[in-house]
Amino acid sequence: MLIKRGIKLRFAVNALVLITVIATLIISSFIAYRSEKQSLTHMTFQLNQVYTDKIADTVNSLFMNMKQSLAVTGEFVAKDLNKPNIYEQLVLFQRSNTSFNSLFIIDKDGILLYHSDPEQNAKGIKIVSEGTKEALREQRPLISKPYISATTNKLIVMVSQPLVDEEGQYLGFIGGAIRLHETNIFQTVLGSVPDNTNGSYAYVVSSSGELLYHPDPDRIGEKITGNPVINNLMAGKSGIQRIENSQGVDMLASYSYIKESGWGIVAQTPTEVVLSTAQKLVMKMMLYMLPALFVIMAVIYWIVGKLSDPLAKLATFASMLSPNHSGGDELPRIDSLNYEANELHKALGRAVRHFRYQFDSLSMEAQTDPLTGLYNRRTLDRFINSWIGQRSSFSIILMDLDHFKLVNDTYGHKVGDEVLKFLSTSLKRLLSENDIICRFGGEEFVVLVPNEQFDIGLQKAELIRSFMSDTESPTGTKVTLSIGLAHYPGMAFSADQLFRKADDALYRAKHSGRNRVEIASYGAEPIEKVR
Ligand code: GH3
Ligand code: MG
Ligand code: MG
Repeated sequence: MLIKRGIKLRFAVNALVLITVIATLIISSFIAYRSEKQSLTHMTFQLNQVYTDKIADTVNSLFMNMKQSLAVTGEFVAKDLNKPNIYEQLVLFQRSNTSFNSLFIIDKDGILLYHSDPEQNAKGIKIVSEGTKEALREQRPLISKPYISATTNKLIVMVSQPLVDEEGQYLGFIGGAIRLHETNIFQTVLGSVPDNTNGSYAYVVSSSGELLYHPDPDRIGEKITGNPVINNLMAGKSGIQRIENSQGVDMLASYSYIKESGWGIVAQTPTEVVLSTAQKLVMKMMLYMLPALFVIMAVIYWIVGKLSDPLAKLATFASMLSPNHSGGDELPRIDSLNYEANELHKALGRAVRHFRYQFDSLSMEAQTDPLTGLYNRRTLDRFINSWIGQRSSFSIILMDLDHFKLVNDTYGHKVGDEVLKFLSTSLKRLLSENDIICRFGGEEFVVLVPNEQFDIGLQKAELIRSFMSDTESPTGTKVTLSIGLAHYPGMAFSADQLFRKADDALYRAKHSGRNRVEIASYGAEPIEKVR
């Protein structure tokens, strides 16, 4: 049904606008989300990269410093390992250089000579830890892998510097321990992750892939395998990469290689943080856009209404046009911005006027007599039937021109027509608007006079008769007429009966000498003679 009758313009345009607005909103949100995500990811990578680079630089120079300090102290103690104040020197050095949790001197046989920790000092025990073994074996500056200290039983990383006397004899080494589970230089340096509230964190990994520092203390010392970032660091590279961490969380990782120690710094931010930030930004954008879109849509709705309303009015009007309605509702007034609506309005106006004119003239032709313009017999029948149907009382005046054949014969048919027109204009003038005047046929005329009292009909009949008998017609002579008069419902109950009675009366008028009015009988009453 809807399809057959079509979709309303206003609905269609508004639906299209709504679809466009929603589509625009979705597409622009999608694009905004994509670009926000990209730029936020880029920014996060950069921020983390700057951070890890800076930390790597800091750690690098710290280590150079540490090695340098160890070398200087080593040079000093190597002059005489038995100097009385070496222990004090060691303690002083440890206190002034907080990079190390402890300092110690081990001779070439692995015997612990001095330890900055008073509890461990001067024990003279032989140290067999991994770090010590490696330092004694290599006899060069080293940074060890994480291992368990033999003296303190703590996980440490050792930085060592060989001790060589003036003749170049190897004496042992001076070592500094970084205790991985205690407050150490990593915590000091890494304590300030750019934004650790969003799940970002940083960790330090050794050249052999062990965690030297991690925010989760349980993981310190753990060896990581199969992590592409750590593999890259172990290959001496710095960079950025999106990876999954050990918990399977998607991360944006930036990493920097520390040249001096061979370690790596990794800072990573959950990708989810970036995504949700981008989502929030897009939501905010949409929230800001919505009121504006609502206003735009309301304006469009109003404009569409303005444009389509006149068309809708015209369509409704046009759909109601029919012969029965042609004279009914007027063409609606429209005040439209729309060119087509205005043109349509003009065209429809022209069409309706033409249609009405045609209709009116057709119905006039059907109702009237062309010569006199009076009602014709068919119209007369309609009036009589309608009035009888409504039980309205009226008189019928039936008239016939006297010796009209003679008029024609004497003056010609044209003059005869003039006489007929003369009679019709005279009737219109003599009678009131409520009287129905009709050319019944040929030179016979009928007038219906709506009245309760028969007298009024009689007066009018007499008026007509006397006017004709007293007035010159277009022939230059007087043409009289004879009249038969009847009344409804006083003398008849049906149109047929009424006509018959009026006709009888007319017949009597003719046969009684013409130029007279004869009244039909009341019921069975004899005919009353008026003149
Ligand atoms: P009466 O009625 O007095 O008995 O005589 P009459 O001569 O009028 O009678 P009749 O009915 O025989 O003649 C009517 C004439 O009216 C015949 C016809 O030529 C004439 N007539 C009828 N219609 C027209 C018309 O439209 N124009 C003209 N000029 N004459 C018409
Ligand atoms: Mg006649
Ligand atoms: Mg006649």
